[in-house]
Amino acid sequence: MFEFLNKNKNKANPRTQVVEFDYSRESDILQKINKVAFKTRDLAEATKIISDILAKYYNLDYCSIFLYNAGRLNLCYTNAQNEYKEGIEEFVNNIYHEKFFTGEDIDAYILKSEDVLQYKTAEDRKIVHMIFIPLILEQVLGGLLIENTSNKLEDLEYEFFQVVIDNITVILQNLLYFKQIIDSSNMDGLTKIYNRYYLNLHLKKQIQIFTEKTGVFSIVMFDIDHFKVFNDTYGHLHGDKVLMAVAQYVKKNIREIDTVYRYGGEEFIIHIPNLTSDMAFKQIEAIREGISKMKLYTDTGILTNVTVSFGITEFPKMSNEMNGLIGLADKALYKAKEQGRNQVVVYEQSRNDSGRSEQL
Ligand code: GH3
Ligand code: MG
Ligand code: MG
Repeated sequence: MFEFLNKNKNKANPRTQVVEFDYSRESDILQKINKVAFKTRDLAEATKIISDILAKYYNLDYCSIFLYNAGRLNLCYTNAQNEYKEGIEEFVNNIYHEKFFTGEDIDAYILKSEDVLQYKTAEDRKIVHMIFIPLILEQVLGGLLIENTSNKLEDLEYEFFQVVIDNITVILQNLLYFKQIIDSSNMDGLTKIYNRYYLNLHLKKQIQIFTEKTGVFSIVMFDIDHFKVFNDTYGHLHGDKVLMAVAQYVKKNIREIDTVYRYGGEEFIIHIPNLTSDMAFKQIEAIREGISKMKLYTDTGILTNVTVSFGITEFPKMSNEMNGLIGLADKALYKAKEQGRNQVVVYEQSRNDSGRSEQL
């Protein structure tokens, strides 16, 4: 256990105590660390800058920063080589869970030895001194792993180091809050996909980018068939469940670079970069079929089936501006409804050969 982190354990709030230290050198690192709060709004970038400052100031061989989410400490930045990343993350999660589940104090964890330490990747990197410090404000926010190939960490000014750690914790917490606000203002609360506000921002940007690089993309609009019946027959809550299931199914079955948004009610839009409408048709047809095979049960165990109708347009061939694209996708969707629902229609002025496109 790290003495400096535990010595105030019995006080009501150890983090509020006034620490006296020599300002000359220390103010420099505090200034550098606190500057991060003004420099960046990005967590990934902030963890890299903080890690670099610590490594330089304390002459660390390895410095890794983790953020906690859903029961795991995820490695956000490390100056270790890629091949060690997985092992480092596993090691830190093992420490954390072991201590957490045995109810042990998780203030800090320190290992040092004259010989190379025996944990995953430590042997390869010849680590002899390791400190893992959870970053805690009101709850665990993340962790900091420091590893050295010599015992030079003995020189650490521990009381002051605690002040540095506290500052880092507050900066990361603020960035996490900021990220949550950005995500939640762009996400639809029910379906956990992007909302219409983000669609407007994103699509405008995409039109700009694809105009510059003269690329193509497809826009798909889809709408759940006879959705009102779900609400009327099984209740609004089951309707919500169906909405969530459809949105999440689509999200899981599009490519990484595609984006799905909730347009409103039970209507959604998908942005499919680099695919013409005919190419997008194939992808969407598979999704349509998948949704129609989904088994959705009501709370009382009744099996319900859901189908969806889709309309597709293509940028820039069919329209080169946002409202035009959405309007034409909506027309194609209307056609899909008219032709019997549970189908995909590509917008086209004068094609009648495939049976899925007609004069619109
Ligand atoms: P169609 O096949 O022509 O699309 O028929 P439909 O019944 O799906 O279309 P309609 O526009 O008549 O009904 C849409 C329904 O969607 C009406 C509205 O109450 C419901 N709805 C919109 N948003 C939500 C929501 O967030 N949750 C639930 N449960 N229902 C919603
Ligand atoms: Mg509908
Ligand atoms: Mg509708």
